[in-house]
Amino acid sequence: MEKSKVLIIGGTGYLGKRLVKASLAEGHETYILHRAEIGVDIEKVQMLLSFKEQGAHLVSGSFTDHQSLVKAIKLVDVVICAISGVHIRSHQILLQLKLIDAIKDAGNVKRFLPSEFGTDPARMEDALEPGRVTFDDKMIVRKAIEDAQIPFTYISANCFAGYFLGGLCQPGKILPSRDSVVLLGDGNEKAIYVDEDDIAMYTIKTIDDPRTLNKTVYLRPPKNILSQREVVETWEKLIGKELQKSSIPKEQFLASLKGLEYAEQVGLIHYYHVCYEGCLTNFEIGNDAIEASKLYPEIKYTTAEEYMKRYL
Ligand code: NDP
Repeated sequence: MEKSKVLIIGGTGYLGKRLVKASLAEGHETYILHRAEIGVDIEKVQMLLSFKEQGAHLVSGSFTDHQSLVKAIKLVDVVICAISGVHIRSHQILLQLKLIDAIKDAGNVKRFLPSEFGTDPARMEDALEPGRVTFDDKMIVRKAIEDAQIPFTYISANCFAGYFLGGLCQPGKILPSRDSVVLLGDGNEKAIYVDEDDIAMYTIKTIDDPRTLNKTVYLRPPKNILSQREVVETWEKLIGKELQKSSIPKEQFLASLKGLEYAEQVGLIHYYHVCYEGCLTNFEIGNDAIEASKLYPEIKYTTAEEYMKRYL
């Protein structure tokens, strides 16, 4: 079967650049949207040029120019969007509504993968304010996709390892301490951590796979389903030393949000649902969804322990 041509939107982003690499590595003809607005951002321009050197095609376009998006989309079969969606960095999830309008007009897209790559928003109806904005916005995008009958795949990637393993599951930290750690509650709720390069590779695998058409794909690499305590134990084993542990009870954690900046509160609520409520693991995958490591057993994913070795 011929491999789909792919357009990646947000190709210079934290996840987007990995999607570009995975798409090229899997032999897809890969197009990247080069937004006029990045202007003289030299880092982004250099990154795009290096992707071009590796075989990607750069397509000029802008979210403020509908026809430019339509033109870019017409070049490909599959569109993957990795636009920003983390408030402490940037949150542009609803801009995808413009992309969906362009996909509708182009009329040729066989699969669209919106910028999801986290907690399944469909399971977060009861999420707390203000963190729920991420899930609500992603659900608005899903509704627009489904109303327009655009074929889709939703990737529920769980925790980016860099944020969670790097900081031993402590919000605001992305490097592991060799001395102490604060446990969220009893530290026993299980979460799922996925190497960002593996997220990109699993994502690319799904795009030509009929089994993933109009489905949610959960990334649950079995060895990476761990509680915060188990993450800490893994690190302790690697450094050969026990960390000093304290704990922050749920009520205190929630009370500590008061007065913080909005973007920080959004992020902390996400940690709350993951680490105190176990929202990533407290359900079985239903019939409308599939698990990636079962679909693609040939991918040798990075285990949490392997990932954490980089911090030694
Ligand atoms: P980034 O913050 O790295 O941004 C990605 C890209 O979005 C940028 O490089 C840029 O691409 C594009 N972008 C930013 N602002 C605008 C704008 N105003 N207009 C148009 N494009 C814009 O994103 P992440 O990689 O952090 O996030 C991608 C997805 O992953 C999101 O859905 C997010 O929610 C999710 N995520 C999940 C995490 C988890 O732990 N599960 C953690 C972090 C993110 P360009 O300039 O190339 O066009």
